[in-house]
Amino acid sequence: KFNTDLGQHILKNPLIAQGIVDKANIKPSDIVLEVGPGTGNLTVRILEQARRVVAVEMDPRMGAELTKRVHGTPVEKKLEIMLGDFMKTELPYFDICISNTPYQISSPLVFKLINQPKPPRVSILMFQREFALRLIARPGDSLYCRLSANVQMWANVTHIMKVGKNNFRPPPQVESSVVRIEIKNPRPKVDYNEWDGLLRIVFVRKNRTIAAGFKSSSVLEILEKNYKTYLATMDSDAMMDDVKDKNTLEIVKQKIEQVLTDTSLGEKRAGKCDQNDFLKLLYAFHQVGIHFA
Ligand code: SAM
Repeated sequence: KFNTDLGQHILKNPLIAQGIVDKANIKPSDIVLEVGPGTGNLTVRILEQARRVVAVEMDPRMGAELTKRVHGTPVEKKLEIMLGDFMKTELPYFDICISNTPYQISSPLVFKLINQPKPPRVSILMFQREFALRLIARPGDSLYCRLSANVQMWANVTHIMKVGKNNFRPPPQVESSVVRIEIKNPRPKVDYNEWDGLLRIVFVRKNRTIAAGFKSSSVLEILEKNYKTYLATMDSDAMMDDVKDKNTLEIVKQKIEQVLTDTSLGEKRAGKCDQNDFLKLLYAFHQVGIHFA
């Protein structure tokens, strides 16, 4: 009956369903977005507390089931079901996101929330345990990775409860965890693509030195291309003269070396660097005209 390709693992433990909804501290004026409502075990509880619920569900059979479940109840009018793929759906305004997430879209879902023009005040999301632990991992932890550093730039993430696999029907292969994500408001004044671009390079091998990551020829090729674009936008004759007869690849290599020496971060490993280290690097690269996006 359940389509596990769509990550259909229904939360059957009512105490956990209620616990998740209560953790959101819903106000009577709130609009709540739910991703993948399934048969509605979370939805009916959210409907009791919220002004409105928008539920995005990919499987029309589930949509029909949920429609039937609320039909003729006093909360029916508060629920809007949008049928379709959450990743392709243009979202209306919402204050809170709650989801027992289809695990296939864990990472894109988090970034979609982060990049909303008006991000939600709080999101309470169920993920596979390891994904949840990556979201909250700190520098030096074994699970600290690009995802951790990237998400923590834009949001504060806390682990709120562990959920064993037997609370679901059918039980998934792995354990789950619920996290709270509070997207920083105002948004840090850092360019999203530049930050992501830098992290992609330094986290290719998080246990190798940052300098090693910048030796890769594909990385150098991209940075050289970006540098040429940057020079073109600068439109400065002096600068163009400076590089006219020289090999831009060599110039880019020299600049990288200079930045890594000046910041003393070249010999450090990304797995041990915190947000300030990466910000320091990004700033120093920008100072010499090296860009990542
Ligand atoms: N929320 C329900 C619960 O807790 O019992 C069901 C959770 S189940 C893990 C995930 C639900 O997400 C399923 O109903 C599935 O059909 C739906 N789904 C999967 N991929 C989706 C997507 N890309 N967009 C929207 N819904 C999706």
